[in-house]
Amino acid sequence: MIMFVWSYPEASGVGPVTWVDTDLLLKLETCSGRARHNHGEAYTSALIELGWSEAGKEHIAIELVDCARWYVTGESSGKDSFTLWVIVPFTLTTVLYWTFGGFYLFMDITEKPAFLRKYKVQPGTNEPVEDEKLRKLLITVLFNQFGIGLPMATLNWTVMRERSLGPVELYPTPIRILFDLVVCLLLQEIGFYYSHRLLHHRLLYKIIHKKHHEWTSPIAISAMYCHPIEHVFSNLMPPFLGLYVMRSHPATAWIWFSIAILATLNDHSDYHFPLLPSPEAHDFHHLKFNNCFGVIGLLDWLHGTDKMFRASRAFDRHKISLTVASQREKFPDIVKKSL
Ligand SMILES: [Zn+2]
Ligand SMILES: [Zn+2]
Repeated sequence: MIMFVWSYPEASGVGPVTWVDTDLLLKLETCSGRARHNHGEAYTSALIELGWSEAGKEHIAIELVDCARWYVTGESSGKDSFTLWVIVPFTLTTVLYWTFGGFYLFMDITEKPAFLRKYKVQPGTNEPVEDEKLRKLLITVLFNQFGIGLPMATLNWTVMRERSLGPVELYPTPIRILFDLVVCLLLQEIGFYYSHRLLHHRLLYKIIHKKHHEWTSPIAISAMYCHPIEHVFSNLMPPFLGLYVMRSHPATAWIWFSIAILATLNDHSDYHFPLLPSPEAHDFHHLKFNNCFGVIGLLDWLHGTDKMFRASRAFDRHKISLTVASQREKFPDIVKKSL
């Protein structure tokens, strides 16, 4: 079947590409997905449907050939799927983690610059970070990234090379990317919320999740400080769910992974900076243990697992700050005066 696809463009004698028919590209996307579903059989009929004898369709032919090659070998125009699904995402997320995490770590170790200290969510904690605690953290996080994250990315690649729709040159539209991201966010919320609540079951908490909670006042790079089992089921699997369901393009995955990494660094940073999403909810979870299990707060609201948080001062501060004044300055702790 593949031989047929390869030889057909030459045999048809179609001319050079002068335009790209978007309608045909859409059909191509559909049939390339169908082809993967049907293990290639759909290609022959797809070629006929697309009307190969018409002039100016060579481009489409190349796309289909490329798609077929992608399907069979996992390669697309010289870009192999291992690079797209393992090397690029792993490098991207690791570099982001240590670059942005590094900025926060610099502030935690040096307590500089002084004018940013007022944005601490729990002032007086990790000022500075204890050396021994930090050493333990670095070893665990590096193991989780290279010893757990890399094999998991490889496992993810074996799924996505089958599920990702179309050849890599067919970029998704901005609307499609946005839609994929929304699905990814919602499925991550479901995956993370329930796996996280399960980890708080007394049997699992002691042997698995307690480690992550050693940091009652977290620092950015403590985001991946956890037991390897937690890292697989709570940190790595939930963000993949949306990509599986939506059969996302690798570029969408790179955008999504970058958002997820930056969000978890912010959530664990213990700094509530202006213009950035509020880290108050997850910070509150580290402090109190029994509230705020989710990522975006949707399931906590639904299950009522944020009642204590909503009644707290932290909830008043739980919004994006649009001024240079810190949330603590705007909403100072309420001191109960005894008569
Ligand atoms: Zn955490
Ligand atoms: Zn927890």
